[in-house]
Amino acid sequence: MEMTPAFTAGQFVGDDLWVSVLDGGPRQYVDLDTAATSSASVAVAEAVQEFLPWYASVHRGAGIRSQITSARYEEARDIMVRFVGADPATHLALFPRNTTEALNLLAYRLRLTKGDVVATTAVEHHANLLPWARHARLRTVQVDERGTFDVAAVEAALDEYPRPKVLAVSGGSNVTGWLPDLRAIGAAARQRGVLVVVDGAQLVPHRPVDITALNVDVIAFSGHKMYAPFGAGALVAPRHLFATGEPFLVGGGAVQAVSFDDVVWADGPDREDAGSPNVLGVVALTASADELRSDGWSSVLAHEEHLVRGLDSELASVPGLHRLGPVTGDRLPVAAFNLEGVPHGLLAARLANEYAIGTRSGCFCAHPYMGRLLGLSEAEVDQFHADVRAGRRHRLPGAVRVSANRQ
Ligand code: PLP
Repeated sequence: MEMTPAFTAGQFVGDDLWVSVLDGGPRQYVDLDTAATSSASVAVAEAVQEFLPWYASVHRGAGIRSQITSARYEEARDIMVRFVGADPATHLALFPRNTTEALNLLAYRLRLTKGDVVATTAVEHHANLLPWARHARLRTVQVDERGTFDVAAVEAALDEYPRPKVLAVSGGSNVTGWLPDLRAIGAAARQRGVLVVVDGAQLVPHRPVDITALNVDVIAFSGHKMYAPFGAGALVAPRHLFATGEPFLVGGGAVQAVSFDDVVWADGPDREDAGSPNVLGVVALTASADELRSDGWSSVLAHEEHLVRGLDSELASVPGLHRLGPVTGDRLPVAAFNLEGVPHGLLAARLANEYAIGTRSGCFCAHPYMGRLLGLSEAEVDQFHADVRAGRRHRLPGAVRVSANRQ
């Protein structure tokens, strides 16, 4: 079922959004879709506001505003590298639009061929599957019926011949909130000389990340999931991966010299910066990173632990509600479920239109994972594809997802 909003407008009263719902009464809006996108924090909004009068072209102007903007932009690279526990001497930060672009960029830049294997897992968001499948052959670590895997399964995938060049793994699931044991996975891959790429889209807003301690090489994440607006994400990776070769995007800014038949690419991160970059987005991203660091993770973790336990007990009390994925252990504040006898799209629409609760329904850009969690057979997966092709949306399998954060 299509989710048609029953209201056309809402109104903020202070920081609270009130909307009209089907029975006519205004209700305070509850956003339980923060895993998709979180609102900007006050500190982020203030940082952007403060920088608005200053911004100008990056690396291209001689004027004072341009100099300040360029300095701020370059400084941001080190802030983001340090934010994930890496050293700017060995690692760089690039600023693609989001995690999806970051992983596409990286998969292109690693110059993989269809003869190369990339190991990945059945938990992945499409952003950490499709860019790899485009350039290499995938080997997938499968999940059990709870939607989890252990390190032994990863080791088996790494030990199969031929050895994968890359292990692309989720830092935390956007469907179940499950957190793979990155430290153990990183150690197993490091021992075998396999490059580990972490999709940090869900992990970074919720946990302190130290890629050096985790033994992983690369991490990608999105500003709009960590209290900054859309349009700027980060890819933190070893510098040597970008020392040679053609950039993902080509154009002005990525070059030192161009003639009709030759080009000398820029060095370092500039090579990946064709076109004018999103400086305001990067200012927002660094403000968010600074805030997460300086607020102290302990208050964030304590609050989110409280949210997870609250979510677990509330959902457990609803008759006929079936959770997907693990319901014990350390998890992100994300839960997916179905309610017996109610199609997931209808449930999400009713929550929105009658209760002013924003959730999401469907397969959450993780179709293979959802197929496992829902226990779909191969025939049912084929039917899913046939229904999609035929536009039979009302028949699609899926679930409702709720998610929360410290806001
Ligand atoms: N990876 C995970 C785990 C996600 O949850 C998402 C977004 O939901 C992405 C990647 C893609 O993020 P973006 O849409 O910001 O590129």
